[in-house]
Amino acid sequence: MRGWLSAAISCRCPACREGRLFVSPWYNLRRFALMHGECPTCGVRLEPEPGFYFGAMFVSYAFSVVVTIAVIAVIYHIFRPASDAVYLIAITAAIVLLAPLNYRYSRVVFLYGFGGLRPPR
Ligand SMILES: [Zn+2]
Repeated sequence: MRGWLSAAISCRCPACREGRLFVSPWYNLRRFALMHGECPTCGVRLEPEPGFYFGAMFVSYAFSVVVTIAVIAVIYHIFRPASDAVYLIAITAAIVLLAPLNYRYSRVVFLYGFGGLRPPR
């Protein structure tokens, strides 16, 4: 069985660490958000309760703040002094381009942190 960090990075079920959480790869922009209702390998419910993933919105917000700070730091060190428009365009582009990954990993972090799914001992 793979470790929890490896399983989380590869978007696997927290219970069996083998079944994929998402139906399609992240770069399939039409279907990147589709999750399996149950793990295709072990059958555990991947939405422990209705509306469970509402809390992932706060994780997504935190990820967006980290991306924003990183973009500001990079722009500042490359284009010192840059106009506000450069920051605004770069931050917007980074947030939009990373949206599928942000969406997925915020759900993965929330499921691993609060889903209560553990591998059997
Ligand atoms: Zn599973």
